[in-house]
Amino acid sequence: MIVVMKVGSPEAEINRISDEFSSWGLTPEKIVGTHKVVIGLVGETADLDARQIQEISPWIEQVLRVEKPYKRASRQFRHGEASEVTVETPNGRVIIGEHHPIVVVAGPCSVENEEMIVETAQKVKAAGAKFLRGGAYKPRTSPYAFQGHGESALELLAKAREVSGLGIITEVMDAADLEKIEEVADVIQVGARNMQNFSLLKKVGRASKPVLLKRGMAATIDDWLMAAEYILASGNPNVILCERGIRTFDNQYTRNTLDLSVVPVLRSLTHLPIMIDPSHGTGWATHVPSMAMAAIAAGTDSLMIEVHPNPTKALSDGPQSLTPERFESLMQELAVIGQAVGRWPQPAVAFAS
Ligand code: PEP
Ligand code: MN
Repeated sequence: MIVVMKVGSPEAEINRISDEFSSWGLTPEKIVGTHKVVIGLVGETADLDARQIQEISPWIEQVLRVEKPYKRASRQFRHGEASEVTVETPNGRVIIGEHHPIVVVAGPCSVENEEMIVETAQKVKAAGAKFLRGGAYKPRTSPYAFQGHGESALELLAKAREVSGLGIITEVMDAADLEKIEEVADVIQVGARNMQNFSLLKKVGRASKPVLLKRGMAATIDDWLMAAEYILASGNPNVILCERGIRTFDNQYTRNTLDLSVVPVLRSLTHLPIMIDPSHGTGWATHVPSMAMAAIAAGTDSLMIEVHPNPTKALSDGPQSLTPERFESLMQELAVIGQAVGRWPQPAVAFAS
């Protein structure tokens, strides 16, 4: 349930009401929006009567029932307002959210060696990316495929962060590695294959860093939002949802089916920021630019694009990786669409070579 307070409600009254809800065994969560304060109520609310709650205080404007199984992730829980994820990178504060410029994340699938990760970081930064992505721990279909360099790759990411000033996004596969990853990552990625690893979700829910939650390859939107709910319910309010393509019946021409319709759907269901990953979504570098542009036109808040200095030699996901040069020209193409929707950092010419 959500309790919408009237504009100008005294702080002491909001606290008094929250204490009252706590004494009923509920968990009240105060959400301060631009216009109003809302108290989200989590717990056994099924038997509560909205009119009875209304009578607790003359400062209560409205009591609404959240109909969705996910509560904290629902748009209603924040009374329709979008949330945003703020990250302090060495290059400055980056905000991912509906009312902010589009944030681009770029980098290789895997961190392979120092030279390639530092070079990629510098090049994607020069082209306008705000985050460097790169896997230290890789979820591979085959146990014989390259599994990532693990801890030593985390050190290389730290180095790339230091040199480029970019924020770092890297994946956690095993909760045992979380602490080490948290030391280096500005945003922790939970990959598609772990979207419903509920014990991992609870653990990243207790982490101090924001979480990028990729959509499971066969996850419905409700499955995905329930997974986000695990993280939010464990205390971490900073979650970004990343669409990376789902399995459909044809994988001959695209690796996955990039579901761009999630952008307007998520926008109506949740307050959480949205990222689109056209690299895993299509599986082919040639298809990435058009889908990246379409994602911006559809209203995404951010993009994740795989970039490798030499895609034909990449240890993972080479076919879908752009060269740094192609990425740079793509950023200029994206600037046109980004400006058309009023969400591109100004001026776009800053990205011209
Ligand atoms: C990745 O980002 O490299 C990755 C493995 O992604 P996903 O979990 O979407 O397959
Ligand atoms: Mn990859």
